Amino acid sequence: MRLRNIPRAEGTIQTHPAVIKRPEAQRGCWRQVFSNKNPIHIEIGMGKGGFILNMALMHPDINYIGIERYSSVLLRAVEKFDTEEFKELKNVRFVCMDAQNIGDVFSHNEVERIHLNFSDPWPKARHAKRRLTSKEFLARYEEILEPCGQIEFKTDNTELFNFSLGQAKEAGWTISKYTYDLHHHETLNRGNVRTEYEEKFSSKGNPINKMIAVRK
Ligand code: SAM
Repeated sequence: MRLRNIPRAEGTIQTHPAVIKRPEAQRGCWRQVFSNKNPIHIEIGMGKGGFILNMALMHPDINYIGIERYSSVLLRAVEKFDTEEFKELKNVRFVCMDAQNIGDVFSHNEVERIHLNFSDPWPKARHAKRRLTSKEFLARYEEILEPCGQIEFKTDNTELFNFSLGQAKEAGWTISKYTYDLHHHETLNRGNVRTEYEEKFSSKGNPINKMIAVRK
């Protein structure tokens, strides 16, 4: 997702208290940002923020960090955060960065869970390493996840889903649960928070795939 350039995006992001301006400076001490010892869950490729804000509302004992590459998109999440429903949340922060450099921002064992929702498919084979579930990205996640830390991945793109299952297995991760039809899965659908893309694709009748992979 890349929205047209929005001139106020950079300014808002630079001054908003929920946006962490120099995330590298927090490496190894993210719990100080939240002033508690609660687990840290991150969403990479957060988009407009509906998922992470609702998760933060439902799980006040988890610290959430939403990561998005484009300031024009992150602006939408920040604007949503400022609405009546979410503005009192103390357990959510935002970072504008390319997840390729995730290891510069989180240290070993610092993250308990990574959410990947409707990640860009990068359909050309030569771009496979850009997929957020490629073996290259899994190696980055392994560095920052705590032992038994998990990735939760949702997508309507079955080709990308099968690729992701294969990459995780090849890299030695354990697939603890998966489904090709999340919204009709009795246990995985319980407590499921839908993302903006999930609403869009399921309203067109596309089944949603989900896997939970546990770090080796
Ligand atoms: N997760 C949201 C949802 O489900 O509604 C948005 C999905 S959208 C297809 C993918 C988002 O991931 C885009 O906003 C894109 O900018 C972001 N993204 C893609 N690659 C990224 C990367 N390497 N680092 C950070 N964000 C990334």
